[in-house]
Amino acid sequence: MDNKQVQSKSILWQRKILNVVYPVLYVFGRLVGKTRQELEETFVRWNNKLNNKQSYNLHCQKILLLTPHCLQKDACQYKITRHIENCHQCGGCRIGDLVALQKKYGCNLAVATGGTLARQMVKEYKPQAIIAIACERDLASGIMDVFPLPVLGVLNERPFGPCFNTDVDMDKVEDAIKIFAGVQYA
Ligand code: SF4
Repeated sequence: MDNKQVQSKSILWQRKILNVVYPVLYVFGRLVGKTRQELEETFVRWNNKLNNKQSYNLHCQKILLLTPHCLQKDACQYKITRHIENCHQCGGCRIGDLVALQKKYGCNLAVATGGTLARQMVKEYKPQAIIAIACERDLASGIMDVFPLPVLGVLNERPFGPCFNTDVDMDKVEDAIKIFAGVQYA
């Protein structure tokens, strides 16, 4: 099944239009005083809404859960980039919870230290859909980079500032898996 079959032509076109129009809206938004972060968050929200309009029924092995390295606890001694199985699920950070979700649904899970590695992971896993956890900027650029692959973006939380011991709402991550896997809500 290729990406055109994963999404309807209508949704694909709407997402394409969003990607083309967004840079123009970005410039306009900045002129009227919106912050970069506000505009990127709006783009991610619109992208997610378009993807939510589609009914999916993907095999979980075709879903890639992509998370940034900054979600790992800074003091953790285990090297998990490229080897997520090294995580001991000690409860010290969300990486352990993501490993548990991976085992529950059978999706792929990869940790990326930056955009280059994230692109490599996409090439390696060849997913039909991606759930990306990141900040507004990385989500917005990543979503455009991998088009036409459908991406549901989940914003990370940054209680200690950017790129350090970040957090994520696990319910939102699991909801995204359910949307792509076509799992019905109770
Ligand atoms: S959950 Fe995994 S990655 Fe996080 S601190 Fe524990 S062992 Fe390290």
